[in-house]
Amino acid sequence: MFDTTIGLEVHVQLNTESKIFCSCSTEFESPPNCNICPVCSGQPGVLPVFNKKALSLGLRAALSLNCKINESIYFERKNYFYPDLPKDYQISQYKSPLGHEGSIQINKNKKIGIERVHLEEDAGKLIHKDKYSLVDFNRTGIPLLEIVSHPELTSPDEAFDYLYSLKLILQYMGVSTCNMEKGYLRCDANISLKEKGADSFGTKVELKNMNSFKGVKAGLEYEVKRQAAQLKDKKIIVQETRLWDSDKLKTVVMRSKEEAHDYRYFPEPDLPDFIISKKMIDQEKESLGELPKAKRERFINQYQFNEKESCLLVENKQLADFFEKVLNFYKQPKKIYKLLFGPFLEQVNLLKGGFDSVKISAKDFAKVVKYFSENKINNLGVKKIISLTIDSNNDVDKVIKKEGLIQLSDEKGIEKIAEEILVNNSKAVQEYKQGKAQAIQFLVGQIMKETRGRANPQLARNILERRLKK
Ligand SMILES: [Zn+2]
Repeated sequence: MFDTTIGLEVHVQLNTESKIFCSCSTEFESPPNCNICPVCSGQPGVLPVFNKKALSLGLRAALSLNCKINESIYFERKNYFYPDLPKDYQISQYKSPLGHEGSIQINKNKKIGIERVHLEEDAGKLIHKDKYSLVDFNRTGIPLLEIVSHPELTSPDEAFDYLYSLKLILQYMGVSTCNMEKGYLRCDANISLKEKGADSFGTKVELKNMNSFKGVKAGLEYEVKRQAAQLKDKKIIVQETRLWDSDKLKTVVMRSKEEAHDYRYFPEPDLPDFIISKKMIDQEKESLGELPKAKRERFINQYQFNEKESCLLVENKQLADFFEKVLNFYKQPKKIYKLLFGPFLEQVNLLKGGFDSVKISAKDFAKVVKYFSENKINNLGVKKIISLTIDSNNDVDKVIKKEGLIQLSDEKGIEKIAEEILVNNSKAVQEYKQGKAQAIQFLVGQIMKETRGRANPQLARNILERRLKK
């Protein structure tokens, strides 16, 4: 019936310690208006100074997105009035973006073109109260990178894949943390529908306020349905900006575009042109490191992971890095993988700071995997050790000794305990003999309890089964 066309505009906050044109901190949790100075609060007579790190990170991003780099760039003033913009203009790039004509591979068969990648400063933040509004300028002048795709995405699913791939690349390159909860990655979308196979695009609607990848997908899915229904009824699609309401699960009109904005762009007179030399580009290229796609392929070839396993590992850069460090101490990739995606991540998810709070060393974790593989500690022991060492500097061997976690694999010892358990739990024994197979699980549990979780559960089970058959 209809073809869907989607283009995405993504803003990411660059990973710098100071703002793009002044030395104010980019710290997220500072009290309002503490990270400001005459430059970023728009006082007269001040001069912006371009942050070298922002340029370097922007260049890294543009290169890893296969962009052509402009040899010379300059900034322009984008003029408009808004209470969160103290200068009444935003310093941005218009005619000479840092990079252009790039691409991003979103799955095996599809590449999406990137129109432009440019640097700009963020605006402030308005906080609306009942009868008044407050403004916080901590965010004015935070360095942003805007990444604009060509309108080549043909479904909400593809839009999701695009964002996923883009985020991973930016995280791997150290360009941005892309933390959406903190607003370090924000996404706007343009979406239009046209009759299948038609040459010209339909009227596009801009979609804002989607603060998670799921939100982007849901917002776009809603728009596809809404616009298709309009078109079926021969109604006109109005060119407008809509907001995604994640509570009501629908899009609502924010403003209709009666006229195109005229920002009166002109070159920023307080900043010179910047030459992007071949040397700079080469240096940045050399330090790019491995991109996620290459890492996924390497993990499949080098460690015999399947595609799903490799994707899961690479999805989290910190986890992928940790995995390879552990490998240096114990060369059993599958065994490491199994514990990482079990008890390890379970504990990481409980930590307030997530992976950033992990303290267990790769060497110590390798020991845990080794002891588990050699049957020296059981599942429960692994859980306990990891919970006691994940965010502390506790030595794994000491914890095992202190907690008495070495697995009991002494057959005679367990046999003796099993004998007592069978005598004291005649009801379960009877149930088992009457055919209730799961009663044995209860008896294994009793042995584990008796040994404070140290018994080898498989061995306990075998002994019980043998005795119950008698
Ligand atoms: Zn400042």
